[in-house]
Amino acid sequence: MIELPVRSLLVIVSAPSGGGKTTLCERLLAEFHQMVYSVSCTTRAPRDGEIDGTDYYFIDDKEFERRVQNDEFIEHATVHGHRYGTLRRFIERGFAQGRDVLMDIDVQGAAQIRNKLTPLPPTDPLRSGFVDAFIAPPSIEVLRRRLHLRGKDTDDVIERRVRQAENEILRWRDYRYLIVNDRLDASYDALRSIVVAEHHRLLKNGA
Ligand code: 5GP
Repeated sequence: MIELPVRSLLVIVSAPSGGGKTTLCERLLAEFHQMVYSVSCTTRAPRDGEIDGTDYYFIDDKEFERRVQNDEFIEHATVHGHRYGTLRRFIERGFAQGRDVLMDIDVQGAAQIRNKLTPLPPTDPLRSGFVDAFIAPPSIEVLRRRLHLRGKDTDDVIERRVRQAENEILRWRDYRYLIVNDRLDASYDALRSIVVAEHHRLLKNGA
């Protein structure tokens, strides 16, 4: 009997807000039960319907800074004027349990993780399990329309997010995978295929 070698994946998904990323991540988690979502800390206020401890840990600046000093974050960044950070313990616990960890983080955070993993030996589980995908809107106009339709932000905030998106989109080449989110179902097919393929990928010389 040949058995598929099992390894945990560290799946990073980045997309400008309004890119459809939240829905795609929810669908992944609903389908892949061995996958856990890395709940980030943020200093921004909860939006309607968001739950503390499920969507984010909503904390104030002082508490965020205390955690930075304590080295609790594997990466942290300021996005749209608020601080966001990924807790190391989520990743460590997920890997220890043999689970995949899904992270929804911005381009700065993804770059920090890549830089942290590069010096590690290729056989390190975090490095060999690392997968990153950028989800891009088909155009800036489509993104603006989606943000208005979502109805969660004021016009000012939407314009700020659109400008930020223009900068983020320039960095799609840093990622291993690119998904242009035109139709949600097709994008989800692409994302789930990436996860399945990565689980079947054999490591060469450990990497
Ligand atoms: P939102 O406030 O719309 O939930 O997220 C705004 C942006 O912050 C998104 O691009 C999201 O991917 C990013 N983000 C969420 N959590 C983290 C995190 O822990 N670290 C980093 N670097 N970005 C994050």
